[in-house]
Amino acid sequence: MSKLNYTPVDEIDKIHAELSNTFKSGKVQPIAYRKYVLLQLGYLLKDNVSKFEEVLMADLGKPKVEVTLTEIGPSISEIKDTYSNVEKWAKPEKPGFSINYTPMRRVIYKQGKGIVLIISPFNYPINMSFGPIASAIAAGNTVVFKPSEQTPATSSLFAELFAKYVDPSVICVVNGGVAETSKLLEHPWGHILFTGSGRVGRIIASAAGKTLTPVTLELGGKSPVFVDPKCDLSMAARRIFWGKNLNAGQSCVAPDYILVPKDFQNKFIEALKAANDAFYPTPEAEANSIGRLVSPQAYKRLSNLLKSTKGTIAFGGRLDEATKYIQPTVVRDVSFDDPLMSEELFGPVLPIVPVDDIDEVIKFVNAHDHPLALYVFSQDNEVKTKIINSTQSGAICMNETMTHVGAEGLPFGGVGPSGSGHHNGKFGFDTFTHTRASLDPPGWLDMILSSRYPPYTDKKLKS
Ligand code: NAD
Repeated sequence: MSKLNYTPVDEIDKIHAELSNTFKSGKVQPIAYRKYVLLQLGYLLKDNVSKFEEVLMADLGKPKVEVTLTEIGPSISEIKDTYSNVEKWAKPEKPGFSINYTPMRRVIYKQGKGIVLIISPFNYPINMSFGPIASAIAAGNTVVFKPSEQTPATSSLFAELFAKYVDPSVICVVNGGVAETSKLLEHPWGHILFTGSGRVGRIIASAAGKTLTPVTLELGGKSPVFVDPKCDLSMAARRIFWGKNLNAGQSCVAPDYILVPKDFQNKFIEALKAANDAFYPTPEAEANSIGRLVSPQAYKRLSNLLKSTKGTIAFGGRLDEATKYIQPTVVRDVSFDDPLMSEELFGPVLPIVPVDDIDEVIKFVNAHDHPLALYVFSQDNEVKTKIINSTQSGAICMNETMTHVGAEGLPFGGVGPSGSGHHNGKFGFDTFTHTRASLDPPGWLDMILSSRYPPYTDKKLKS
């Protein structure tokens, strides 16, 4: 395992002061400068693809195809989109016509909030960081970026490359764990964007409360999938099984568990098995297409949950502690109170919970934390509409998993326990932007406004 050099805690005050001064100096104000930094972020990724492949393999056993598909590709797309739109997004806005206020020359200015803090999780170290960083820069902020200590090779590479590609007084990487993050959180920030678990999200929110720092929380949870018998079965199985096993199941929006009508369970499992056999025709194909769990603790947690299930393994189930490998595994006849239903699984284990009908699905989903994503596989519009209208979740996707993250034009975020606020493209730009109201009324308006000035006589009430 690579060694990660933590930023000394006693340097953190200095870093905060330096990046605050850069913001105040106006260096990141000109759009041309913001675009230059966005370009540099793009080149940082583009020039170093093979280095990123190497470190993501070391930290997470991430296959190269996944690095392109889920890390570098979407990050470069978002940087490009931000680069192309920053002028338009940052332009002052004029509100629509109002008989009373148009003469007062109303303007909404878009300004950076100051120095912002971006704290990232381990699972998609690039994807969960570069979009928010690009948005924060486009909005005219300076950025302290705190990547995860659980991916030491990748976080070391970030420290090296950011210092090479971007002025460290504009974007500064702070590496570390709890002590370093706690020190960062003592400071006030223009904004904090935190991506990670609900447990740590609560710590971040309460620390931010002390400094009145606005926070965006991108959290996790159990994202359910409802499979309606009226669906394209093999497509459903393919898309669910792909979403489940991507990044070895360590995705915040991974399909966590399946709700399926009792008499449809067998057919659905057959379709999942067919998807499994097509994706992983040989043991080598399987081993090379599935990442590894991030740490021995993560492996132990999930393998213990799997060992304690009262459900039956339909297929898969092979565990290898030495390599932190868990084979894609489907568990059938899982009950609502099974250990596998007790927490976010975050690994390639898919429990199937048989249900009576769609009403039981809605009741179960509504009795638990609002998920980050809710997936519905159905060709029946009434089923889709009923679920949309009677549940809450960060996002709801029909006949697809995962792909909504980063889809152009869509916000990405949770609701309630799965998070608050959002980012992605313009939504990210707005998150890091202060929309500053302004009026500039001309002097001649006082002819009309004279009645607002004292003395307050009854005559003025009538005018
Ligand atoms: P985590 O909450 O353990 O860590 C996230 C970050 O918080 C890391 O940078 C870590 O150093 C820091 N941290 C950890 N303990 C801290 C403490 N006590 N005080 C201050 N900072 C602390 O999350 P993780 O294990 O890296 O990621 C997995 C979780 O993240 C899952 O729950 C997953 O669903 C969620 N997630 C959410 C999204 C999203 O966009 N909503 C995306 C990816 C992951």
